[in-house]
Amino acid sequence: MIKGELLYEGKGKRLYKSDDENLLISEFKDDLTAFNAEKKGNESGKGALNCKISTQLFHLLEQKGILTHLVDVISENEQVVKKCKILPIEIIVRNVATGSLTKRLGIKDGTVLPFALVEFCLKDDALGDPFINDEHCLLLNLVKDKEQIAQIKTIARKINEILLNFFDTKNLRLIDFKIELGLTKDNELVLADEISPDSCRFWDKDTNEKLDKDRFRQDLGNVKMAYEEILKRILS
Ligand code: 5GP
Repeated sequence: MIKGELLYEGKGKRLYKSDDENLLISEFKDDLTAFNAEKKGNESGKGALNCKISTQLFHLLEQKGILTHLVDVISENEQVVKKCKILPIEIIVRNVATGSLTKRLGIKDGTVLPFALVEFCLKDDALGDPFINDEHCLLLNLVKDKEQIAQIKTIARKINEILLNFFDTKNLRLIDFKIELGLTKDNELVLADEISPDSCRFWDKDTNEKLDKDRFRQDLGNVKMAYEEILKRILS
């Protein structure tokens, strides 16, 4: 596979053309950002860890019937992925209240939610990724129709169920996570982007120790060790 022109550089990854017009190469970066990139850092090896973690999780989800963009892994921090049109929506699923939910609604940090809460944010850095609801999605033509919103929520809840059960066996609590979905040339809605400690919150089941990007956001230290611990438990 030949790595072609750089198409897009995001906060956590670079996307390149390949010699196949339907496939792209996704390169995971070592950069860390938080608070809409107001806080910046770098952890050597973080990109490779996220690539490995996300690959394992995408394989697990594929086995359980979730369609994903992942095709192959070609180096320690590069995946071959299906070209798709990413929906400009961040889809967030929460099992436990923390982060922006506690700030927005005053729910006590650590409250176990009575059901998995699915939320949407507009993917727009200039606007600070604002929270939006179903009707905003329709108003802004971010989705095709109401049925597509229902389909997005169904996929998000199914991914949550699979990952909750999986991480429970690894002595981890899946607190919340963000996913992105894309439409392939065949109009299939697939899981894209990544699922990693950059985009999820994981707490140790016994101690509630944070093992995700909150260690960077909150200056807790040992960021890379936490990501290594997540990979170790996934592979155990
Ligand atoms: P919160 O809204 O509490 O900041 O985040 C909820 C969940 O979504 C967390 O697991 C967080 O890591 C993830 N998340 C929210 N926004 C983003 C984003 O812009 N990028 C990434 N990678 N994850 C996000």
